[in-house]
Amino acid sequence: MKILTLNCGSSSLKYSFFDAAEERTLARGIVERITIGGSFITHRVPAPEDERPAGTSGGAVGVKARAGLTTRRMYECPTHKEAIDLVLATLTKGDGAVIADLAEISAVAHRVVHGGEALTGSVMVDDAVVDALRERISLAPLHNPPNIAGVEAARALLPDVPQVAVFDTAFHYTMPDYAYVYPLPYEWYCDLGLRRYGFHGTSHLYVSRRAAALLGREPADVNLITLHIGNGASACAVRGGVSVDTSMGLTPLEGLVMGTRSGDIDPAISFQVTKDLPLAPQEVYTILNRRSGVLGLTGKYADRRDVLAHIKPDATSADDDAEEPGSAYRCKLALEVECYRLKKYVGAYAAALGRVDALVFTAGVGENSPEMRAWTLRGLEGLGIIVDEEKNADAPRGEEVDVAAEASATRVFVIPTDEERVFIEDTVALLDGTYAPPDRFVYSFQKPDYTPRLD
Ligand code: AMP
Repeated sequence: MKILTLNCGSSSLKYSFFDAAEERTLARGIVERITIGGSFITHRVPAPEDERPAGTSGGAVGVKARAGLTTRRMYECPTHKEAIDLVLATLTKGDGAVIADLAEISAVAHRVVHGGEALTGSVMVDDAVVDALRERISLAPLHNPPNIAGVEAARALLPDVPQVAVFDTAFHYTMPDYAYVYPLPYEWYCDLGLRRYGFHGTSHLYVSRRAAALLGREPADVNLITLHIGNGASACAVRGGVSVDTSMGLTPLEGLVMGTRSGDIDPAISFQVTKDLPLAPQEVYTILNRRSGVLGLTGKYADRRDVLAHIKPDATSADDDAEEPGSAYRCKLALEVECYRLKKYVGAYAAALGRVDALVFTAGVGENSPEMRAWTLRGLEGLGIIVDEEKNADAPRGEEVDVAAEASATRVFVIPTDEERVFIEDTVALLDGTYAPPDRFVYSFQKPDYTPRLD
């Protein structure tokens, strides 16, 4: 069974092609600059040594692609349909081809950001599901339209292939009402669906199950705080293996400081700036999503690597260039604000959970920045969270590691996330009729003998 996963953003499409019988990724890649001109695809056929575990066969890679090969090709994609067509052509023709015929694709799994209250688990896509996604556009205006475009294009291009939707919101459907209801007129929840939904669900699900496995316990026996910190960022409180609270809300704007999103702010600010500046509400919304967070604070950088590279520890607001975009002071301030707010969420979720067996860092920043991990957890010894500075600094990239000190009551794991693994296992289960929602489904990666893939 070969499964194509598609993750459609507004101008990009990430994909992977997985052979479920051989347990190996045949290809993965990204189409960039969709709808904006100058589109191109970067396609990679992983080498066997990048691949998963000892014990699985090297397998036939496909028709002719050389393992370890990366190809790049320009091809104009005015819509997501051309982008998916480009992916299908690349999988079947040319140097990067891994199958001879599209008929070898058993199913397509789509990442869909917002499932709303009705779609609480992965589903086979039919017309009714597409209609339901359309109804949710107002809840996720930035995210669901490209997801829907991807679903529709794939259905048109591969009409006989089953399509599955996997939702970012699904893992959080176990939240209790007191965690997801906003203190607003209750009718806004009942009539408009305004509530906390939470996102990054497949990532929080994957790393929380891996954390339970690393602790040598069943998911139902562990309490965790998972921190997915990438360009987008969210925290999740996991009690007994299920999500009981998360920092993103109605949309992915709430919660932690992110690359370009503000996270939590006083809602009155959105109103106030429209009085003080010539800004329409839609423009404020765009600025909160695209020009705030780390980018807003530094005025220049959203990528934390750039911010870290421009910090000077002794920079102050009195420096001559302090107000300049990208100044050492603004970079230092941005990371201090980000880490301080992360720390506050850790404290809040520790209080919500009562007992925390492990904290998990994942995604681009969480996996790769020992500095950000150290700054976030410094001073939390009183909560039983103690980082071993050396282990943290030396943590090998791409591996699962515990960077907590021996004496720490709470383990501190760095776990590379693998959302595609969730897409694939949900799809296989839906096809063979064994699927159950995340709180009842047993994934391969929660078993003690699972070896995470390295590619
Ligand atoms: P993601 O959204 O998970 O792909 O994460 C992307 C973000 O991870 C980038 O924007 C960077 O800010 C961050 N990142 C990646 N590598 C590092 C690193 N070595 N140090 C700090 N941040 C990093």
